Formats: sequence, C-alpha cells, structure tokens
Amino acid sequence: MDSKLLDILVCPICKGPLVYHKTTQELICKADKLAFPIRDDIPVMLEGEARTLAEDEAI
Ligand SMILES: [Zn+2]
Repeated sequence: MDSKLLDILVCPICKGPLVYHKTTQELICKADKLAFPIRDDIPVMLEGEARTLAEDEAI
C-alpha cells in the first residue's frame, strides 16, 4: 500500500494514527483496538467493517 496514503489516514472513530500490518493487511488503531481491513489496496475505514482485536493480540 502507498505509504503516503497511510500518512493521511486516521482512525475514523478517535482520529488517532493507524499502524499498517502487512501480514494481515489491516490498519490497526491501538486506542480503539480495532483493525480495519484493506481490500484490493483500498483501506475500508468503516467501524462496521473493523475487527476487534483480541486482548492478547500482538500489535
Ligand atoms: Zn481509533
């Protein structure tokens, strides 16, 4: 994914920074413990599409 795109992306809920996870193709918000999927190189920044991270999941 384009790193410039990542720079401008923020969490839609808390407006905080996101961490790109290459292996899972997800954008992680540590504050909300949510993982937003990236489909066909397009981040899906919808709360309803996000996955809740498990408590013990490595971020
Ligand atoms: Zn957030």
